[in-house]
Amino acid sequence: MDQATIDRLAVAPVAPGKLLIEGHWLEGAGETPVLSPIDGRQLTTIAAADAADVARACASARAAFEDGRWSRMAPAARKAVMHRLADLIERNAAELAVLGVRDNGTEISMALKAEPGSTAATFRYYAEAIDKIYGEIAPTPSIVLALIHREPVGVVGAIVPWNFPLMIGAWKIAPALATGNSVVLKPAETASLSLLRLAALALEAGVPPGVFNVVTGPGRVTGEALALSPDVDVLVFTGSGATGRRLLQYSAQSNLKRCYLELGGKSPNVVFADAPDLSTAAKAAATAIFRNAGQVCVAGSRLLVEASVHDRFVDELATATRKMAVGNPLKLETQVGAVNSLTQLEGNLGFVTDATREGGEIVTGGERVLQETGGYYMDPTIVTGVRPEHRLYREEVFGPVLAVTPFTDEAEALRLANSSDFGLAAGVWTANLSRAHRMIRGIRSGVVHVNTYGGADVTVPLAGTKQSGNGADKSLHALEKYTDLKTAWIQL
Ligand code: ADP
Repeated sequence: MDQATIDRLAVAPVAPGKLLIEGHWLEGAGETPVLSPIDGRQLTTIAAADAADVARACASARAAFEDGRWSRMAPAARKAVMHRLADLIERNAAELAVLGVRDNGTEISMALKAEPGSTAATFRYYAEAIDKIYGEIAPTPSIVLALIHREPVGVVGAIVPWNFPLMIGAWKIAPALATGNSVVLKPAETASLSLLRLAALALEAGVPPGVFNVVTGPGRVTGEALALSPDVDVLVFTGSGATGRRLLQYSAQSNLKRCYLELGGKSPNVVFADAPDLSTAAKAAATAIFRNAGQVCVAGSRLLVEASVHDRFVDELATATRKMAVGNPLKLETQVGAVNSLTQLEGNLGFVTDATREGGEIVTGGERVLQETGGYYMDPTIVTGVRPEHRLYREEVFGPVLAVTPFTDEAEALRLANSSDFGLAAGVWTANLSRAHRMIRGIRSGVVHVNTYGGADVTVPLAGTKQSGNGADKSLHALEKYTDLKTAWIQL
């Protein structure tokens, strides 16, 4: 896409967002302003659903599920609808990407790939799965026929974050719909716009009314009501650990709905002196943390470097980092876009202050920049000398702040890598095949990248361990979250 197209779409008026319930666009009990992180100005408003609005959406999803308008539709027909939705996402990719950047701040070059691009691919992947998955016949004694069915769970509540709303939304919505469930989606209040547009496209594609509902509004009101709803059978979530904990409590207080949580990470990127190419590793270490201004759940936010190459490596890394173009995320050349909100930016700066107080040293960055734009921008920040007891080592910043720690041998590297409550992603840079495999086995995380950082595909699962959560997004494994097993035991 060219800059002129982006610039044209970037000034298109944005209508106030409404709720989607039973195929109708409705006002909510209130409304929430949407500020653009690009310039701090109000872009539009979204509806703020209260508990009654959420109850209506959940009841609509429940009724749709029970009457079978989607859950009992022939698999090939459901598949056709989902492919039509993927077609519409592709046809409207530019508009979806720009709209999403206007409220969330991701650099457009990245948003184009990660948002409409991967969203369409995700809908196609699960559309194709629909009519290729079979039940099972169990190897019971021959006087019995035991059939194992996979049934949709019913109503899926999905609460998603603001960093990649479409992509992460699709990771939940597509497999849930593919398996015949109804969905009630709650986007983040600072990144609802592209998901509201996606919902409109879903209606256009032929997803029946009531099967896909969207409730927008504050987490503590709208999200809480969804998580407490007795109509929700399974709750899927990506966001912070603090909210994840609350969701488990809401589940316990209501109907014991199953909760699948993806709660971010503090992922180690481990560079050994025998890496195939330290310059490549240094550049990759910068993008591993700084793309989307660090607002990536798998970001390589803890850099562990072998002491013998530490200083040289940090120099190269700092040089690569200083060259990264920070600024308006709607410019194609921008490599580090806006921080999503002022609260988030202030939190990021607080981490830097604490890190220096605890003995870390800032190599580059550490400041808010481009304040004259009114937007929320932060210079990519590298802090060296960070120890496992420091806050910057332990807690997820979810911003452009990299903690660097030296190690002396493989055993220490592994110990440091695993010194975390999180276990989402990791990177290992080494030319030694045996060492690479030892590290893959030793690191407790859902993914270990070797001699690269951050590659992903819908065909492979993203699944956290430890306090990074439970349950897989993407791949056929994700279908397990949205289906129940049922055995039919037949005496012959
Ligand atoms: P972050 O810190 O990345 O914004 P959050 O966990 O606060 O992560 O937000 C992720 C999603 O969870 C958003 O859609 C937000 O509105 C929602 N959320 C926040 N608090 C709650 C809550 N108490 N109950 C349900 N949803 C919530």
